[in-house]
Amino acid sequence: MSMSMNVLEANALGKRYGGTWALRECSLQLPAGHVVALIGPNGAGKTTLLNLAVGLAAPSAGGVTVLGGAPAGSPAALDGIAFVAQDTPLYKNVTVADMIYITRSLNRRFDQAYAQARLEDLGIPPRRKAGKLSGGQQAQLALTLALARRPRLLVLDEPVAMLDPIARHDFMATVQAAAAADGVSVLLSSHVLTELQRVASYLVLLACGQVRLAGRIDDLLAASSQPSLEELALSYLRETPAEVAR
Ligand code: ATP
Repeated sequence: MSMSMNVLEANALGKRYGGTWALRECSLQLPAGHVVALIGPNGAGKTTLLNLAVGLAAPSAGGVTVLGGAPAGSPAALDGIAFVAQDTPLYKNVTVADMIYITRSLNRRFDQAYAQARLEDLGIPPRRKAGKLSGGQQAQLALTLALARRPRLLVLDEPVAMLDPIARHDFMATVQAAAAADGVSVLLSSHVLTELQRVASYLVLLACGQVRLAGRIDDLLAASSQPSLEELALSYLRETPAEVAR
C-alpha cells in the first residue's frame, strides 16, 4: 500500500439519530502508515464515526471512503479492514481453537499459522472456552483474529477500556508491533490517553459530533504550548461545554 494514500476520507460526513446529529460536517483525511488515536468525551461521536467507516452504519449526510477511495462497506473496503467492536464480541461458549476455525471459514484470507503462533506466544490455551479467558486474553484473542485477516486498516473501538494496566500495555504493544512490522494502519478510539501517547502518531479529537483537532501528533505538539499528547488533549476536552460532555 502506498504510504501517500489515505486510509480514510470523510467529506462533510454526518449521522443523525432522530433529531440529533451524532456526527456532523465531519471532514477528515487520514494518511496511511499511522496509528490514529480517536479521542473525545462520552457521546462525542467516536463509535458513530468508526461504524460509518467500517460500513456498519449509513451516513445521513456526506460520505466516507477508505483505503484510497473504496466506499465504506463495499467489498474492497470489507476485504481490507478488520474491525474489533467496543465490547470484544466473542462466542463465549466456543473454544479458542473453534473461534479460529469459525473466523477462518468466514474469511478467504486468514493466516491461521500467524493466529496460532500468536496465541501460543500469549499462552492462550486453544481448548479453553473464550468466555473463560481473562478480559485481557479475550481482548488479545479478538485482536489476533482481526490481525490474522491481514488487514491494511485495523479499526478498534475502545479496545482497552476493560483491561488492567498490564493487559492494556500488552495489548497496545501488539497493536504497535503490527503497525511497525506489517505496515498495518490503525484507527482506534480510547479514553486512555497515557496508553495512546506511546503508540499513536496521529490524533483526531471529536467533541459534540464535530472534529475539533486533527493532525500528526508531532505537528500538533510543536504548534501548541502543551508538553504531551495527554495535556494537549485535556486542554481541548476542557473547552467542551459541560452539558454535552456528560
Ligand atoms: P463513548 O465514549 O461514550 O463510547 P462515543 O464518542 O463513541 O461515546 P457515540 O456512541 O458515537 O459516542 O454517540 C454519539 C451520540 O449519538 C450520542 O449522543 C449517542 O447518544 C447518540 N447515538 C449513538 N448511537 C445511537 C443510536 N443507535 N440511536 C440513537 N442515538 C444514538
